[in-house]
Amino acid sequence: MDERPAKVQVKRARAGLGLFAAEPIAPEQFIIEYTGDRISSEEADARGGQYLFQVTDELTIDGRDRKHLARYVNHACSPNAEAEHDEDEDRIYIRACTTIAPGEEITMHYGEDFFARIIKPKGCRCPQCQP
Ligand SMILES: [Zn+2]
Repeated sequence: MDERPAKVQVKRARAGLGLFAAEPIAPEQFIIEYTGDRISSEEADARGGQYLFQVTDELTIDGRDRKHLARYVNHACSPNAEAEHDEDEDRIYIRACTTIAPGEEITMHYGEDFFARIIKPKGCRCPQCQP
């Protein structure tokens, strides 16, 4: 993996803080790696929290620390980025799935399970659900 990450910026968004493009991003371009503590599923269950990214049945990445900028990517039901699982290294790369203009918020779909458990009970605040 030798692609450089896109230039991004953490700013206030409709759902708290969000991650925004600071340069034009092309479809399929690498944006940022989802980094954090690499922990077992048992430990993830014990920790809980909103920044758990389940990679496999055995491995979860906990991006709770604020230095992990990918944690700021908010959920959207019709997102402009998606997570790619590198199965050789079990790393998660967030890539654009469409053109993203500078200043636009970067979003991804958190998955049906997360959506049903965490987002739906509070009401989804993404642009498609609350224009
Ligand atoms: Zn939504």
